Amino acid sequence: MLRSLKRLYHPPKSFLHWATPIDLLIATILSARCTDVQVNRVTPELFRRCRTVQDYLALSRRELERLIHSCGTFRSKAKYIHLLCKKLKKEHGGAVPRTMEELTALPGVGRKTACIVLYGAFGKNEGIAVDTHVFRVARRLGLSKGKTPQRVEQDLMKLFPRKEWGRMNALFISHGRAVCTGQRRKCEQCVFRRKCPSSLVTGKRDLAGR
Ligand code: SF4
Repeated sequence: MLRSLKRLYHPPKSFLHWATPIDLLIATILSARCTDVQVNRVTPELFRRCRTVQDYLALSRRELERLIHSCGTFRSKAKYIHLLCKKLKKEHGGAVPRTMEELTALPGVGRKTACIVLYGAFGKNEGIAVDTHVFRVARRLGLSKGKTPQRVEQDLMKLFPRKEWGRMNALFISHGRAVCTGQRRKCEQCVFRRKCPSSLVTGKRDLAGR
């Protein structure tokens, strides 16, 4: 399955535009309930103004909210960005930490965000970032019956070798966007159409359905 996905897609390590670990951390926080495209519209100005943790802390909450408002839930995102920058400054000398434990201890940073940062910025395979696309595609393909992202991640981690964990997020997202789409899956175009347990081609029901 991974061989097929790798042949089909050559996704970047992250669909978000970033240059430094702090960029990627902030962009990933902004991407919650927001499209990558919209985040990528907002971050050029934000990253031009803020290159370091100290730069974020120098912005007023109101100014930060103004810069990120089109990413949705901007008040809570601005609050968490300020809180996590304070903690990064106080406990990590302004640097983004490189372990799952330290990252998930930061305000507003969950396992998914930590997985994306660890793989994207540091090349570390510590887990599989399960977003809405990964969740749906994994369940449709019968790789997990998990009802939560955490459960689906655990099932995927058991099935796939650790060295593949980081890139699986982008591969599954690519497949979820191109073919195995949310509303109308395009099974007739899918490389898995004969074997997939949710394939419309063989008359199966959608295992990702509720
Ligand atoms: S066959 Fe259909 S349901 Fe299965 S992975 Fe492909 S597009 Fe998704």
